[in-house]
Amino acid sequence: MNSSATGKPRILTGDTPTGRLHLGHWVGSVKRRVELQDSHDCYFIIANMHAFTTRSDKADEIRRDSIEIVRDYLAMGIDPERSTVFLQSEIPTIAELTFLFAMLLPFNRVMRNPTLKDEIRVKGLGETYSFGFPLYAVGQTADILSFRPVAVPVGEDQVPHLELTREVARRFNQVFCAVSDQTEDDDHPAHGGVFPVPRAEVGKVGRLVGVDGVNKMSKSLNNAIYIADSPKEVQKKVNRIFTGRQSPTEPGDTTNALFQYVDAFIEDEARVAELKDRYARGDNIGDGHIKQEVGAAINHLLDPMRERRAKYEGSDRPILEILRSGCARANRTAEETLAMAKEAAGLGYFKRELRFV
Ligand code: ATP
Ligand code: MG
Repeated sequence: MNSSATGKPRILTGDTPTGRLHLGHWVGSVKRRVELQDSHDCYFIIANMHAFTTRSDKADEIRRDSIEIVRDYLAMGIDPERSTVFLQSEIPTIAELTFLFAMLLPFNRVMRNPTLKDEIRVKGLGETYSFGFPLYAVGQTADILSFRPVAVPVGEDQVPHLELTREVARRFNQVFCAVSDQTEDDDHPAHGGVFPVPRAEVGKVGRLVGVDGVNKMSKSLNNAIYIADSPKEVQKKVNRIFTGRQSPTEPGDTTNALFQYVDAFIEDEARVAELKDRYARGDNIGDGHIKQEVGAAINHLLDPMRERRAKYEGSDRPILEILRSGCARANRTAEETLAMAKEAAGLGYFKRELRFV
């Protein structure tokens, strides 16, 4: 039930087009996605409607970012032959399930979500955010459950959202499919539930700090190293990482922001251990030197991505073709889910077909 026709377990995850993709996306989620492409049936959503929650006056930018994110995906190694890359706005099931799922969640439960509170604070949304802003947390449960995935590879900040999705899945199965509240999460589909209770899979670095050294690296906070940055830009941004350390002989703190980057991007573990040892002892090793090594390691990671990206620069047409066939494939799965959900909820009146012309 929760795996594809190919018999592979299904996963879903994605990104909001509020800008380009950055290293936080790579370590938190995309690296894992690339690894799972052979063993799993992968769905990657460009959550363009969610971008409207804070940028409804910038439809052109949202459209441009949606296309650029697909270019970033291709650069990072997502293969549209094996994985389904699609636009949220082309999947009507998502809007329909959002409405239904909103009935299963107490209002205060949605508003208590720490990720929403954090976003309101960090993005300076104050009291003026749209009704659609908190609704996006509910919408995300529909993004995910439309595809009945077993797992969702995400960064740490998304874990509370995923908890909401897990609650919706349990609640739906209990209310409409007679699954007992004693049933273990993993057993829901086997006990007649329409939805699996999907688990969050957090990457090796669940929360990469931005080059400001304080906040999560984020498209919205001007603290990100982008996948599409040039080698020079990368080094310049790495040089900005603030540690507060005064001299190469001062014992340093190896849990600071700079060392998060050492851990995340320098692959040679012996070298990482040596850097940590010398830094902690203040053994004549300056921040500037470490920043050079970190910059080189990041550029080593990004070089093949730059090469792949270059093939897709220029015309948007090939990108739109990838999205078109991805949306068609995604709709086949989502429509199947919607039919199952409507049947369970006593809404199974008529059958329908969906196609692009
Ligand atoms: P925004 O500022 O608009 O919220 P964002 O940079 O947080 O943008 P999202 O589109 O919200 O990006 O997140 C996409 C995915 O990348 C999510 O799974 C999220 O957890 C992960 N992610 C984003 N930033 C980081 C980070 N700094 N470290 C680890 N994972 C991250
Ligand atoms: Mg975010």
